[in-house]
This record gives sequence, C-alpha cells and structure tokens, in this order.
Amino acid sequence: MKKAIYHGIRNITVEEVPDTAPGPGEVKVKIRYCGICGTDLHEYLHGPFPESPFGHEACGNIAATGPDVTGYAVGDRVCAVTPGAFSEAVICPTNRLFKIPEKMDWKRAAVLEPLSGAAYALDRGQVKPSDTVFIAGAGTVGLMLLLGLKATGVQTVFMTDVLENRRKKAKELGATMAWNPDEIKSPARIKELTNGRGADLSIEAVGIEATLKDCLAAARYQGTVIVQGIFTARAGINMLGFVSRETTMIGTNSINPALAMKWLETGNIRPEGIITDIISLSDIVKGGFDVLAGKSKTAIKILVEP
Ligand SMILES: [Zn+2]
Repeated sequence: MKKAIYHGIRNITVEEVPDTAPGPGEVKVKIRYCGICGTDLHEYLHGPFPESPFGHEACGNIAATGPDVTGYAVGDRVCAVTPGAFSEAVICPTNRLFKIPEKMDWKRAAVLEPLSGAAYALDRGQVKPSDTVFIAGAGTVGLMLLLGLKATGVQTVFMTDVLENRRKKAKELGATMAWNPDEIKSPARIKELTNGRGADLSIEAVGIEATLKDCLAAARYQGTVIVQGIFTARAGINMLGFVSRETTMIGTNSINPALAMKWLETGNIRPEGIITDIISLSDIVKGGFDVLAGKSKTAIKILVEP
C-alpha cells in the first residue's frame, strides 16, 4: 500500500510499504480522509516532535481487527487518532479510536479530531456563554475554537489573523469581528470594545510570541489565557503584567471527542466548512504541505484522500 513517510524538514516521500495485520488490541483502518494538521506542517517546516504525530487526523472504516479486540468490528466507521495515517490504511490501537455515527458525512468526520481539540481546550478553560472571548489566529485551531464557542452559546468572539481569507472565514462562521493584528493593535482594540475591561478569555491559536503577548495583554484582570498554538521558539512575556493582572494561563494539547460530538448534535455548527481542498496522497507535498507553507491565500484545512 502507499504511504507518505516523513524523513525530516521538507522531506516527505510517498512510498510503497508492506501491508501489515493488526496485533492484539489493534485494528486496521482503511482511510477515507486524513487532514493535514498544524503539527504536521510544523514538523515539515521545523523538524520532528519527540513523538511524531505525523498524519493523525484520520477517519475511515475498520478493515480488520486484531486478537482480543472487543467493541469494534469490521466495517465500523471510526476516527483514528494515531500517527502514520497519510496512507491507504493504518494500524490503530483501540484506545486511539472513536466511533462516528452512521449518518455522519465523512468530511465532517475528518475534522472531528481538531474539533475535539477545541472541545478539550474550552472545557479546561471553563468557558461560559456570557464570556467575551478573543482568539488570536483563524486557522483550523482558531476556527474550531470559534465553532465550539458558538455551540456553547458564547455571543462575543473577536478574532485576528494576518490572512484575509481566514478573517473572512471567521466572520462567515460567526466571529463578531476579525481584524489584521499587523494593522490594528489587538489589546487596545479589545479594551475599547469592552469598555476598558478586557476579554474574559483569550486564546492563542498561532504559536508565536506576538500573539501570545496580545492574548495576555487583552485579557481582563483575573482573566484566562488558553494557549493551543504550537511554538517553535521561546516567548518573552511581560511577567509583571501576568502577575499584577492575576492571569490564569492554561496550555492544552489533548482532545475531548465526547464534547465535540455533543456540539455537533446540539450546537448547529458546520466544522466541515473550513475544508478548502481535498488532494490525493501522491499530491501531498506539492498540493498540501507546500501550499500551506507558502501562506496560501485560500487554503485552510486540506484533506488527503488516499
Ligand atoms: Zn491535529
């Protein structure tokens, strides 16, 4: 079978690899789609993480089950949150699977993992419908957080992104306002919009110092800052401001699929609306990673269809 293999910075090749059978506690999933995640792009541009999650946003049908597998059967529709899924099939331990409803569109299933990341973050941040929220970054992470906030009943969400297509998408998906942080100073603008108070919750969804600083400075006294962006470099932050404003800062890097599923059932949101491109496995470098690395004017979420 064909599989995209990550070798290092800007080095991904699509190769023919042997088809393996699932071991105890594992299943084999025939991949329908695997989304390119911000972490995948990070590895492509900056080098591997200690435990590489390369290609983990997969969905498809179970094609085989290993010994001792209970609760899953051949044919089941699942999300497989396991690395190595830029491939025709992947071997996945059952604790990295979650089932998706019979009628759910595959495109929707393909963005369940990032939506689950937003669910985890907002649950940890204890967000309330009355909160005023600022999200720095309107890529997949920021937009999934926006949809989660909408599903939670939050009315006021300000967003920033340097790319116009992402600001447009943010407004389309329900952001109150979206602006370019290179043109407008976000903390001052948010103070203005909140009668000097600041945001109850700021969320960093980019992974750079400038947006982290914006989030900290835009948060109100005793406000919360959630950091979900993937940082390449260390960030110098104003610790005096952090202490004197008594900010709570939370890092998040896990998923809560149950809450994401609840949002989908009751929240009237369409996370699949962020999908901009569907490409073949053989096109993963040119049509996927290079497009995202090149600050594409149109791409947001790219799915690989093996
Ligand atoms: Zn991901």
